Amino acid sequence: MLPAWSIVFGVAFGAAVGSFLNVLIYRLPRNLSIAFPPSHCPACRHRLGVRDLVPLLSYLVQAGKCRYCRASIPIRYFLVELWNAAVWAWLWHQWLIMGESPLRFVCYALAASVLIAIFFIDLQHYIIPDELNVALLILGLLHAGLLKGAPTDWEWASLGVLNLRNAALGALLGAGLFSLIAILGRIGFRKDAMGHGDIKLVRGMGALLLAPGMLVAFAVSIATGAILGGLWTLLRSRHAARLSSTEPTDEEPIPPEPLGSLLLSCALYTLWVDALITLLPRRVQQRVYAALGQPEEEPLDDSFEETPTMLPFGPFLAVGALLVMLFGGAFAGWVRAYIEWAGL
Ligand SMILES: [Zn+2]
Repeated sequence: MLPAWSIVFGVAFGAAVGSFLNVLIYRLPRNLSIAFPPSHCPACRHRLGVRDLVPLLSYLVQAGKCRYCRASIPIRYFLVELWNAAVWAWLWHQWLIMGESPLRFVCYALAASVLIAIFFIDLQHYIIPDELNVALLILGLLHAGLLKGAPTDWEWASLGVLNLRNAALGALLGAGLFSLIAILGRIGFRKDAMGHGDIKLVRGMGALLLAPGMLVAFAVSIATGAILGGLWTLLRSRHAARLSSTEPTDEEPIPPEPLGSLLLSCALYTLWVDALITLLPRRVQQRVYAALGQPEEEPLDDSFEETPTMLPFGPFLAVGALLVMLFGGAFAGWVRAYIEWAGL
C-alpha cells in the first residue's frame, strides 16, 4: 500500500514512542505522574530542552551524557528507543508496505511498545504495573473486535479465528493456565511459583495472540528463559558466592502468600475483575482492594536487592509474545508441521 521509503516514518514514530516509553519505565513503577513534571535530568534536575529530547540522536550526539552536568545517562534509554524503533519499522513494513492493514499496524505497534515497557520494568523492579497489563488486554480485545474475520496465522485452528469471542477465550485460557500453575506451585512447593503480574500478562497475551499464539509464546518464553535464565543464575551465584564469603546474610526468608488470598486473586484475574478495578481512580481502587482483604500494591523500594537465584519471568513472556507477533507465520508453520508429523 505505502511505498518502501515510507519505512523511515516507521523508524521515526517508533523512536519517538520509545522516548515516551522511557518516561513510563521510570515513572510508572514509582507511582509518579506521567505528564508532570516535564522531563529533566535525574542527576542535576535541569529541565530538558528540544535538543536533549530528539530520540536516538540526542544520546549519540551527547555521547550518553547530560549536556548540563555531564552525568552519564543509562544505556537503557538508548536501547528502549532503538528496540521500539526497530519493532515499529518491522511492523510498518509488514502491515503498511507489504500488507494493507493500518488498524493491525496500530494495534500491534502499541501492544509491542507495552511489552517492551513491561520487559524493562519487570527486569529492574520485579513488578508489572497493572496499567500496562490492562492496556495489553484492551488492545487485544480491540484488535479482535475491529478486525473481526481478518486473516491470522492460526485460523486453521478453531480457536485461532479472529473474533471477540476467541480473544476473550484466549485471555480466559491464559489467566486460567497461569493461575493453575501458581496454585499447584503454591500447594506442591509451598513457595510463590508465579507472580500475580505474570498471570495478568498472559491474560493480555491470550487476548492479543489468541489461544494458539499465546501457548506458542509461552513455550518460546520457557525455552529462552531456560537458556538465558540458567546462564544468568550461574553467573550471579558465582558472583554471590564471592560476596557471601565476606558478608554472611542472616535474612529471614519471606513467607509465601496464603493460599486463600492466592485463590481469590486468581479468580478475580480470570474474571477480569481486577482489570475493571484498575480503570477506577486510585483512591477508589485502594478501598475496593481493602474491602476484598487483598494486600495493597507494595510501594517501590529503590534499595531492594535481588537474591541471586531470583529471576522475573515477565521479561521472557514479553519477548515470547513479541516474537510470536513479529514472526507468527514462521511459528504457525512449525506448529503445523509438528502436528502433521505427530499425526495429531
Ligand atoms: Zn544533568
